[in-house]
Amino acid sequence: MASTNNLDQTAPHIAIFSTAGMGHLMPFLRLATMLATRNCTFIAISNSVHLLHPLLSNTSPPLSAFIADFTIASSVCKIATDLSIPTYVLITTSARFFSLLACHSQLVENNAKNGGGEGIDYIELPAGLPPMPLSSIPPPFFNPNHYFSAIISANAPSFTKVNGILVNTFDWFESATIEVLNSGRVVHDLAPILTVGPLESFKVGQSLNLPWLDNQPAKSVLFISFGSRNALSKDQLSELGVGLEKSGCRFLWILKGSKVDKQDKEKIEEILDESFLERTKNKGMVIKGWVNQEQILAHPAIGGFLSHCGWNSVMEAARQGVPILAWPQHS
Ligand code: UDP
Ligand code: UDP
Repeated sequence: MASTNNLDQTAPHIAIFSTAGMGHLMPFLRLATMLATRNCTFIAISNSVHLLHPLLSNTSPPLSAFIADFTIASSVCKIATDLSIPTYVLITTSARFFSLLACHSQLVENNAKNGGGEGIDYIELPAGLPPMPLSSIPPPFFNPNHYFSAIISANAPSFTKVNGILVNTFDWFESATIEVLNSGRVVHDLAPILTVGPLESFKVGQSLNLPWLDNQPAKSVLFISFGSRNALSKDQLSELGVGLEKSGCRFLWILKGSKVDKQDKEKIEEILDESFLERTKNKGMVIKGWVNQEQILAHPAIGGFLSHCGWNSVMEAARQGVPILAWPQHS
């Protein structure tokens, strides 16, 4: 993205590779912003890995490091090794989930031996990592013919070749997992886990235009949002409404009527009972549409977050010190 002309020849010069999907692009952008405020400059290239070799071999100033998304780590690693440029992977999910990626082949093998996990509630993980409920693992993880599993097995070998693995988490939050991963007992020669989270926001200088929220007492409002791709069923929505009304709690509820990335045109009144909206109008606000979640979480009136626990949401809440009432929904 940045032009390479007129750059300070002595500053670190880092190329960053993400893949498509907002959940990848966003943490990559945040990391980029964080580095940019610390005197680094960038070239961001998100596809055409095969074109990179000639492109990167003669950048000026020469590259100090590569940072690549996990899903293209192996191809990027080959190029970087060839060019003798230090390479890092950025993991956009938890260290705990990363531990599954790191021992993927072993887990797939064990699962096949165990008859596909029939009758098993927990899977054992190596080196004293706490066992993981089988129900917490997306089923395609164990299916070697699935795209998801193929991406993992193609890229997991890079974890021992790169110089470090950046994870959007922090030590206190996942200390046991990080310690075991860094002990070398999970995967021999695993690159060091470097915790860089919770990543800072890059949406600086935007104001949140929500006068209702500005008028609420400090830490009094429950923020309710289930990420960018979850839609609750009509029954769940109406039960949530009943619970909110009974609790008497102030709330800011971001409503999503249909699944991911589809514009849904239903009006709030078509999803929630109009009488509910009328009865709760002094206590709560319902918004249908995209909001700036990071800014809402940073607002002094917010006292809690009812979340589906997408990793970005968890880290954003942690960054602002907002307690989460967890309602995990997927993955
Ligand atoms: N996002 C946005 N505006 C939109 C839709 C999405 O800013 O209209 C961004 C948002 O900031 C968030 C990301 O999309 O960080 C959500 O990513 P998601 O986890 O859904 O991506 P995926 O996991 O599907 O790649
Ligand atoms: N998000 C947002 N506004 C919305 C809904 C979501 O800014 O109205 C952002 C949120 O801040 C987070 C991301 O979208 O960065 C959602 O990612 P997460 O990993 O929490 O869940 P996913 O959407 O991938 O299930």
